[in-house]
Amino acid sequence: MEVRRTAPVKLVVPDERRDDLHESARQFLHCANRAAEFCWSDHSYTDCVTANTTARDALYDELREETELTANLVQEAIRRAVQAVTGCVERWKQGKRVSQPEFTSWSMLYDKRSATFYRNKVSLSTINGRVECEFELPSDSPTPYEQYVLSEEFEFRASTLQYDAVDDEFYFHITTRKYDSDRDGDSSEVSADTEHQTVLGIDLGLNSLAVSSTGRFWHGDDYDHWCREFEKRRGEMQQRGTQAAHNALLRLGKREEAWRKQYIHTIANEIVAEAVEYDCDVVVFEDLTDIREQLPEAKWHHIWAFRRLLESVEYKAPEQGISVAQVEPNHTSQRCSRTDCGFTHEDNRHGEQFECQKCGCEVNADYNGAKNVGLRYARKRQHRLRSSPTSGSGDAPVDVRINGGALNGESHRPIAGA
Ligand SMILES: [Zn+2]
Repeated sequence: MEVRRTAPVKLVVPDERRDDLHESARQFLHCANRAAEFCWSDHSYTDCVTANTTARDALYDELREETELTANLVQEAIRRAVQAVTGCVERWKQGKRVSQPEFTSWSMLYDKRSATFYRNKVSLSTINGRVECEFELPSDSPTPYEQYVLSEEFEFRASTLQYDAVDDEFYFHITTRKYDSDRDGDSSEVSADTEHQTVLGIDLGLNSLAVSSTGRFWHGDDYDHWCREFEKRRGEMQQRGTQAAHNALLRLGKREEAWRKQYIHTIANEIVAEAVEYDCDVVVFEDLTDIREQLPEAKWHHIWAFRRLLESVEYKAPEQGISVAQVEPNHTSQRCSRTDCGFTHEDNRHGEQFECQKCGCEVNADYNGAKNVGLRYARKRQHRLRSSPTSGSGDAPVDVRINGGALNGESHRPIAGA
């Protein structure tokens, strides 16, 4: 169910605008290389800059001066360099040989502000205004564009424009997950004066231990497996009843606890990393107070895992500037997470599968739940900000990060976004 896809779509670029794209790409590479140079240090990885904001604050004005690129393209170029440097730093830490990233291939990153989608075309920022490019779609249906980009499950996230010098064609690789470029929710000029928040919803459950609204699954199969194994071994030792068995039982208990903690700790770290990757400000869980009533089939080790996971994320997330919130679990698993639907009925859910009885939308039930957790938080926050006299005009921006895009609490933003 975790799907990350890129749909390559051939573009029909008007002849007189091809040079604008070529020159834009040249300037984009210039920005990326300048940023890589700024972020890199040959001395030590601790001297490398891996924070996007640091690089952006240092370089943005300068690069806007030096190039004719739009704000978002400059930011994407910086982000690309920071990501590359971050990757190198990770390998460096593992003792691998690395060097300053260098960008040479014809490639530009577009986010939802620099690329606007229409059904059959896309409008792209260039150094010389926008250029509208029609999609050259194959005749067989469904096209990748229809399949991934128009589908709710595969919302537009960011895309790479590439040029194929061999056949002299431009291709737009519409990415549903890989590049986290629309974190430019934090782009200074767009939203610095608003309280924009991006939310990662987490659904905890028995099918999968945890699922994020970005479509990442922590299945927990091995957790269940090992908990059962420990249980079995404990049973055997208890039956023997000797002092030696008793001592072994205590040791086993300690080992099991350490293992369990480590397991949950790893998932917690990965959840926080997911939030960082998608530039989320808040990780939202369901309130666990009544978890036993909501999940009567849950074993004690599940309940333990849920609580521990929440605690661990609460402990870890603030180090990354991310907060943790909880929402009341109101039919999260029965409600259709399509924001233009929201139909809630117990028949919607069949085990791992969710099928909305009203709009027909079919989706993994836990993924549906994770989106709902995020959306519930978004709605509550929007409501709160609207009813607060100090929050201004009141269009309180909250995005729920989902697989390949974002939702806000009110309306589904299908593709083009803002
Ligand atoms: Zn529905």
